[in-house]
Amino acid sequence: MKLEGSCHCGSVRFTLESPHPYPYNRCYCSICRKTQGGGGYAVNLGGEYETLKVEGEEHLTVYQAKDDRSPDGISPLKRHFCSKCGSSLWCWDHRWPDLVHPFASAIDTPLPDPPELVHLMTGSKAPWCRVETGPDDKVFTEYPDESLAAWHERLNLTS
Ligand SMILES: [Zn+2]
Repeated sequence: MKLEGSCHCGSVRFTLESPHPYPYNRCYCSICRKTQGGGGYAVNLGGEYETLKVEGEEHLTVYQAKDDRSPDGISPLKRHFCSKCGSSLWCWDHRWPDLVHPFASAIDTPLPDPPELVHLMTGSKAPWCRVETGPDDKVFTEYPDESLAAWHERLNLTS
């Protein structure tokens, strides 16, 4: 599926091919909450990095969070956002260079409605943030047991 995305002020626009476009993965970690706002969680999609095309690249800024588990104390995950309006756009990590993870909030293309959700990192959620689960949803206090690709394959939703 081809996805088109943009920041709020329109300085950055991007397109990419996404074999895993269902917005099912709600991340309640403190980094997503603080940098993304929303309902206390952020939603990442799976895309192919080599297909990512960006207009307004000069307006991009990258944020790498502190991470005590990394040897240099910095998370290798690069969160790209617009330096003018602050919209979070996508994540990229050199450990998985072929993948890119756009935030569903930045995508303008209508996304498919996921049949079930994964709620992850609920151990880090804000106390006021209610985890509202459907009958087939899964909840993980840390990382989920399935990758974005495996979730789409199990439900036959690969596009
Ligand atoms: Zn912007």
